[in-house]
Amino acid sequence: MPDGLTPISPAPLTDAFGRTVSYLRLSVTDRCDLRCAYCMAEHMTFLPKKDLLTLEELETVAAAFIRRGVRKIRVTGGEPLVRKDIGDLFDRLGTYLGDGLDELTLTTNATLLERDAERLVDAGVRRVNISLDTLDPDMFREITRRGDFDKVMRGIDAADKAGLKIKINTVGLKHQNAAEIPNMVEWAHDRGFDMTLIEVMPLGDTGEDRVDQYIPLFEIRDRLDQFWTLEDEAASGTSAGPSRYVRIKETGGKLGFITPLTNNFCAGCNRVRVTCTGRIYMCLGQDDHVDLRSALRDSDDPRAALDAALDRALLKKPEKHDFKIRERAASPALPRHMSVTGG
Ligand code: SAM
Ligand code: SF4
Repeated sequence: MPDGLTPISPAPLTDAFGRTVSYLRLSVTDRCDLRCAYCMAEHMTFLPKKDLLTLEELETVAAAFIRRGVRKIRVTGGEPLVRKDIGDLFDRLGTYLGDGLDELTLTTNATLLERDAERLVDAGVRRVNISLDTLDPDMFREITRRGDFDKVMRGIDAADKAGLKIKINTVGLKHQNAAEIPNMVEWAHDRGFDMTLIEVMPLGDTGEDRVDQYIPLFEIRDRLDQFWTLEDEAASGTSAGPSRYVRIKETGGKLGFITPLTNNFCAGCNRVRVTCTGRIYMCLGQDDHVDLRSALRDSDDPRAALDAALDRALLKKPEKHDFKIRERAASPALPRHMSVTGG
C-alpha cells in the first residue's frame, strides 16, 4: 500500500433490495446421527468427505464474512457436533468474538451436548438452539427414526448446567406433536428456555408426504390462545429476522413463530447460508448459489477471490421465497434437504 493511504474498510454485504447481511449460517457437515422424518430420508446418501470444506477453509470463509460486516455466526448442519474435531473450529471462531464478531452460536439436536457443552462455553458460545419436537420418548423415536430421548435430555441438562442460554426449536407436525405443543411450551418456560415453533418446509424428499406433516402455525397459536395470554413482542437485535415473538403472560416465557408458508418474512432477511461444501445460498427457498470452494482452492489470491464471490452472491439474493404445501405426492419445492443447506 502506498505511504499515507489508509485501507478503505471493505464494503458491507448489502443486496439489491437494500438488506444488509450481518448473520451467517455456516454448515459444517450434511451428516447426522438422527433422521428426522421432515428433514431427511431414512436412507440418506451423504457427501464424500473430500467435498467438505476443511476446518481451516471454514475459518477462512467465516473470516471473509466477518471482514464484510457479519456480526453473528451460527454453526449448523446436518448435526454440527458429529463433525470430527468440531471443537477446534469453535475455538478458532471464538477468537473473533469482540474482534468483529458479536455472537458465535449453534443449532444442535443435543445428542452430543453432554460431551461438548463445556467445551463450547470455553470457546465463547453463550446461547444454543436445540431442536426438539416432542417430550414423549416413543414419539421422539418415531419422529427421529432412531433417537435416544434420554441422551438428548442429558444433553439439554449439560448445556443448562454449563450456563448456555437455551432456545428450543420445534417443528409443528400435524399428527405427531401439534396436540402436545402447549405441554412443550409449559415445560420449556418452566425450565427458563425460550421456544420457537417452525412451519415444516417442502425441502428435499424424505419419503413422507408433506401434506401429512404440515400444520399452519396460526392453528397452533389459536390453540395456545385458549390457555394463555399471548402478548406480541417487538423484534430486536440480530434475530430480527424470520421469528415473530410473543411473551406468554402466565409463564413469563418467550415464544417465537417462524412461518415460511403462511406469512412470508423475507423483507427483513439479514442472513445467508454457506453449505459444508462451500456453496453460498442467499435464500433457503431458492436454488441460486455461488461456489466459494473454487474461490478458496483454485485462486492465487483466495482473499480477493472470496470477496469477489461474496459480491457476486449478494447480487443474487432474491426478494423472497414462495413455498406451498397443498397437493398430495407433490415434488419438494427444492430437491435440496435442509440438512444440506444448513438449517
Ligand atoms: N441437526 C441440527 C438440529 O436439528 O438442530 C441442526 C440442523 S437442522 C437442519 C436445523 C433446523 O432445521 C432444526 O431445527 C430442524 O428442525 C429444522 N428443519 C429441518 N428440516 C426442516 C424442514 N423441512 N422444515 C422446517 N424445518 C426443518
Ligand atoms: Fe438431523 Fe437436525 Fe435434520 Fe433432525 S433436523 S435429521 S437432527 S439435521
